Amino acid sequence: MLCLGLEGTAHTLGVGLVTDGGEILANRGEMYRPARGGIHPRKAANHHADHLQALLQTALQDAGVGLEEVGLVAFSQGPGLGPCLRTVATAARALSLGLGTPVVGVNHCIAHLEVGRLVTGSRDPVLLYLSGGNTQVISYAHGRYRVFGETLDIGLGNMLDKFGREAGMPFPSGPRVEELARQGSRLLPLPYTVKGMDVAFSGLLTAAFQLRAQGEALEDISHSLQEVSFAMVTEVAERAMAHLDKDELLLGGGVACNERLREMADRMTQEREGAAYAPPPALCVDNGAMIAWTGLLMHGSGVRMDLAETAVSQNLRTDAAEVPWLAGNAAA
Ligand code: AMP
Ligand code: MG
Repeated sequence: MLCLGLEGTAHTLGVGLVTDGGEILANRGEMYRPARGGIHPRKAANHHADHLQALLQTALQDAGVGLEEVGLVAFSQGPGLGPCLRTVATAARALSLGLGTPVVGVNHCIAHLEVGRLVTGSRDPVLLYLSGGNTQVISYAHGRYRVFGETLDIGLGNMLDKFGREAGMPFPSGPRVEELARQGSRLLPLPYTVKGMDVAFSGLLTAAFQLRAQGEALEDISHSLQEVSFAMVTEVAERAMAHLDKDELLLGGGVACNERLREMADRMTQEREGAAYAPPPALCVDNGAMIAWTGLLMHGSGVRMDLAETAVSQNLRTDAAEVPWLAGNAAA
């Protein structure tokens, strides 16, 4: 079966085409980049509506298939920005009605984990999911994916983006912060905020603004921001691994593209005699392939949704979803 996956929780519209054998035939994305300020939800939703048709055509061309070959439509049901979610869900429902295929709404956070399991070979990982909006430590326990730690305020990527915006960097700023950090060397004092299994970044952001006002070099602040925030999330991920007695760490979300983060994850897992895994960058950022693959797992294990059940949910929780495809799996 061929699944069309539509991702649209925030800034990125993604279209993926994946087979039930786990072959990713196409994975196209188009990112809304505000000229100034943060993401305006309505403008991002309009961006998705404007680009969907062309992106879908390109993805079909990449895959070398026609729309009529699609047997299942999957879309990101939440969590995310309401207008973006609704726009993409409406497109998914219309496509499924037009094609006469089933439609399933997918939990975006779980999709990051499932695509990681598909392409990296990790089986039962602790996922460190670090994106713009989300920062969570997720793993399977007692029949569900559960959140073992998370940010108490903003996402790690959002913290880097906000810092970058003030410093005049383009959106998203994570890659530029990474470049600058390579040229920095001084570890400046920044608050390290870990509360149990949770983390917080707003104090770190304020302190970084202060360092800038004091005239510290952008390279050193970027270096320090990465060192401190990545150490915080690596610490809570390690605690979750110890608590759950698991030896695999999987990275996901746009921040997982960062080489320094990958290095820290490798170090930590090697010291525990475990292993760290990260998908290629195109599957770390928000993407349609992860939605398609998770939709296939759901459908293959009997999940069916009538249209009323496809309502979007801005606050969809990771542990709200049943994961019947894991029943009987080693992870279960
Ligand atoms: P996502 O929301 O998962 O699509 O990821 C987007 C987020 O990832 C944004 O906040 C980016 O700034 C961040 N990001 C992307 N590449 C990098 C990188 N190389 N280092 C740090 N953050 C990054
Ligand atoms: Mg994401």
